[in-house]
Amino acid sequence: MRRRARFASALPFLVFAFTTLDAQSTHPESHRPAWLQQYREPSARLIGEALGSTFAWDRLAVLTDTIGHRLSGSPALDRAIQWALAEMTRDGLENVRAEKVMVPKWVRGQESAEIVEPAHHTMTMLGLGDSVGTKSEGVQGEVLVVNSFEELDARSASARGRIVLFNVPFTTYGETVRFRSAGPSRAARHGAIAALVRAVGPAGLRTPHTGALQYSSDAPKIPAAAVSTEDADRLERMVARSGKVVVRLKMEAHFDGDVESANVVGEIRGREFPDEIVVVGGHLDSWDVGAGATDDGGGCVVTWEALRLMKKLNLRPRRTVRVVLFTNEENGGRGGQAYRDEHRAELSNHVMMLESDGGVFRPLGVGFTGSDAARDTVKAIATLLSGIAADQVSAGGGGADIGPSVQEAHIPAMSLDVDGSKYFLIHHTPADTIDKIDPVEMAKCAATVAVMAYVIADLPQRLAR
Ligand SMILES: [Zn+2]
Repeated sequence: MRRRARFASALPFLVFAFTTLDAQSTHPESHRPAWLQQYREPSARLIGEALGSTFAWDRLAVLTDTIGHRLSGSPALDRAIQWALAEMTRDGLENVRAEKVMVPKWVRGQESAEIVEPAHHTMTMLGLGDSVGTKSEGVQGEVLVVNSFEELDARSASARGRIVLFNVPFTTYGETVRFRSAGPSRAARHGAIAALVRAVGPAGLRTPHTGALQYSSDAPKIPAAAVSTEDADRLERMVARSGKVVVRLKMEAHFDGDVESANVVGEIRGREFPDEIVVVGGHLDSWDVGAGATDDGGGCVVTWEALRLMKKLNLRPRRTVRVVLFTNEENGGRGGQAYRDEHRAELSNHVMMLESDGGVFRPLGVGFTGSDAARDTVKAIATLLSGIAADQVSAGGGGADIGPSVQEAHIPAMSLDVDGSKYFLIHHTPADTIDKIDPVEMAKCAATVAVMAYVIADLPQRLAR
C-alpha cells in the first residue's frame, strides 16, 4: 500500500513492476528451494485432515456454547482451563499442564444508561472493562458531545460536571480505539463526572462494544461505558436541537482483587532437537459478553488443532511444537507476561512464535516479523498453502500474548492473517458467537497454522534469526 502511494505518478512502471513480481511469486521455481520438496506430502496430509472434518468448529462450539464467555477470574474461565487440559490430554499431546498466572478479577455487575431529559430513552450500553462503578443511585448529568480530543480540549469549561460523549465514527481500530482507552481520563482531567464512548466498530444493529479503558494516574477515575452508534448519534442530534440532554448512568463495576488463573500448555516434543521450540497459540480468556468465539476461542482452537493434526497423522517434527492458550489478554496481558517470565531461560531456544487473534475467517496467509533470510524461508513454506489460497506473507507478525517474549528475545513472530472484514463488527460484543464462523474457513485456518508450524519445526536448519 505504502509503495503503491509512493510511486503513484509512475503508473506504467508500477504496472510492469507488479506484473513482474506477480509472475515471479507464482513461478514454480522462485520460492521453491530443494528442501521444500520433502514437505509437499506432509503438508498435503495436514491440509486434507483439517478439511476432512468439522472437528475444529465442533470443538469451538463446545467451548463457546457449553462453557460460554470467559472473563479473567470468572468460574467459566476456570472451567475452560480444566476442559482444555482434559481435551489436550485426550488428543495425546505431551507435557500438558497449567502454568499458574495471577490475574485481576474485574466484575461488571448490573449496569444501565438512560436519557432522562428531554425525553426518556433506554440506551444500549456496555461498561468499559476495568471501569469503576457509580454510586448505587447512579451518576446523572448533562451531556457534552465531542467529536475529537481537540474539541474536548477546546471546550474544557463545558466539560466540568458533565457526562462527556466521544462520538467518533469508526475508521480503523487503531485510530478509533484510543477514544475508548484514553477518553475517560481525558474527560476526567476537564472535570467530567462520567464518560460515554461511541461503540468502537462499524455501525451494527444497536451493538455496543466493550473493551478495556486505561486510567491515567493524573486524573480521577470516572465511570465509563460504550453506547451503540445509534444511541451516540441520537444523543448528538438531541443536544444539537435542544441543548440540554440529561443522562443517568448506573454501573456496579468493581475489582475483586487478583485471583489464580493459568496458561494452558501442550506439546509435541521434537524428535531431534526437543529443546528448540515453535510456539503457537491464542488467548482463552474473553470479554463477558457474547461467547468469545471470534475473540479468541477460534484462535485457541485453530492453533491447538495444528498439534492435534500432527499427532493424528503421526507427524513428529525435529523440534518441539508447543501450543499455549494464554489467560487474561483482554484486561491485563498477564498470561503473556507470565509466559515470558516462566520460560525466560529457554526464550533463546524459541525458533518462532505464532499468535492467532484476528479471527478465524477465510485465511489469507501469515504476517511475519523477522530477518530477510527467515522471511524467504517463510515465503517458500507459504507456497505449500497455495491450494487453499492462504499463501500470502505480509509484514508485521506478532500478537499481544507472544509480544512480551518476542520483544525480550527477538524471536521471529507470526500472526495468522485472515479476511478481517467482519471482525470489528462483532469484536467485544454480544454478537461474538460461533454462528459467525464458517467451519470450512476455520478448517483452512487450522491447516495454515499446522503447515507453518510443522515445517518450521522440522526444517533441516533452524529458521534464521
Ligand atoms: Zn483477542
